[in-house]
This record gives sequence, C-alpha cells and structure tokens, in this order.
Amino acid sequence: MKDILQPRHLACLMEFCRGAAALVFDYDGTLAPIVEDPDKARIRASTRRLLRELSGFYPCALVSGRSRRQLALMTQGITLSCLVGNHGMEWMPPMPLPKAIRRRVRRWERHLRRAFADTPGIRIEGKGLSCAVHYRQVSSALKPQVRERIFREAASFGRVRILEGKDVVDFMPPSLAHKGAALKRIRRLLSCDRALYVGDDTTDEDAFALRTPKRYLGIRVGDSRASKAAYCLPAQSDIDALLKALLSFRIPKGQGAHA
Ligand SMILES: [Mg+2]
Repeated sequence: MKDILQPRHLACLMEFCRGAAALVFDYDGTLAPIVEDPDKARIRASTRRLLRELSGFYPCALVSGRSRRQLALMTQGITLSCLVGNHGMEWMPPMPLPKAIRRRVRRWERHLRRAFADTPGIRIEGKGLSCAVHYRQVSSALKPQVRERIFREAASFGRVRILEGKDVVDFMPPSLAHKGAALKRIRRLLSCDRALYVGDDTTDEDAFALRTPKRYLGIRVGDSRASKAAYCLPAQSDIDALLKALLSFRIPKGQGAHA
C-alpha cells in the first residue's frame, strides 16, 4: 500500500518542490473526474482556479492519453508550459514520425470500427498516433467479454503496444515514447531540476517508475498496491487539497486567495 499523502508528508513534498520544480499532471481521473462519456470529462471550476494560480509559481504541464488538440480545448484559459498528448508521443512542435506509423494506426482504427460497429456502448477514438477503444458505456455484465474481444481483435495487429486504462484500451506502435520518457523530456525542456507527477492509472506507471531520488516524485490518485508512486491521494476529489498545498509552498501564509 502507498503512503496516503498526509500533513506529516508535506514537509517532504515542500522540500521536493523547492527551486526549479515542474508540476506535471495527467488529465482524466486526475485533474478531471472520470465520467461515463469521456467527451464530457471537465476540470471542476475550483481545480481550474487553483491550476491557473499555480501556473504563476511553477511551470505546469499535462501528459495525457488524449490527443493534444483535445487537451488544448479542455484546458483553455490555463497557462500551461507544455501539453503532451497520446501518452507522451504528441508534442508541439511535433517530433518527426514516419508516415508509415500513422498509416498503421489508421488501419487498426478501421479494423476496430468494423469489428465493433454493432456493439452498443463502444466508442473507437482515432488519435493519429494511437487509437483507443472505450467501453465504459457497455453494461457491467458484458464488460468482461467485451474486453476479451477487444484483445482478440488486436491479435492481428502485429507489433503493438497495448495500454489498458479504466474501461479503455489504447493501441500504439511499440517503438514510441511513453509517459515516463515524456516526463523526462518535459523536465529537461522546462529547465527544471525536479518534476512532480500526478496520475491515476496503469498508463501513468511508466512515469511513477522514474524514481531517481530528488529528481522525480510520483503521486497516484486512488490507491493501488502495485503502483510505483511514492504517495497516493485517496480520491480524485482530493486533487484540490494537493494543489492548495503546492500553492502554499510558494505563497507566504495568509497572503494567498486559498490560504
Ligand atoms: Mg488518467
């Protein structure tokens, strides 16, 4: 079990965030609550306010499985130093990628759309560099067999990296980056000594696995015994408390709007 982030841990967190520290967040289940329809996942107004304020004190970045375009829309009005989509593959300016990779992903997407055309509750999302099958809206009784079928359909994809999240399976070419590599790159790009990473899912474990002492610190939203994160927040609704604590490290007591 991870240590639940408690007041007694705040001194460690404050020490870590001293100086040039970047704050890097996942989107779904971390900044925004998970909802039935992934298109409707929004950051709460209170979290948005805190993030906006935090970005004045720390370089803040986002790494998500969503496309970069979607992320930009969902974080409009918040100044982020870096926005990375497609599980760490999609950057601005773009990293050069062979066209063959995009073609391969489009082929998978077409295959999945055909295979699940008649299955209610399934949504196929093409994201250019990866594609995802969402099955959150499938009835609970049918979820295990739908999940099994998703993996069966992918058996013909050849070399593929499969990332499984909460009621979603992502397919991407195996040679490409993951969230851990993205976190390292963000830290370097933002000229930071350290990076704090907050995420909620198995897809975030590559980032939690970077345990270079004093360089990376992971906080997992929701407990998972197997997680490599140093700490966990009990629930997504605790994100505001974490953001407030991070703000308090930079604002003298009694001076901040959220003090
Ligand atoms: Mg997530």
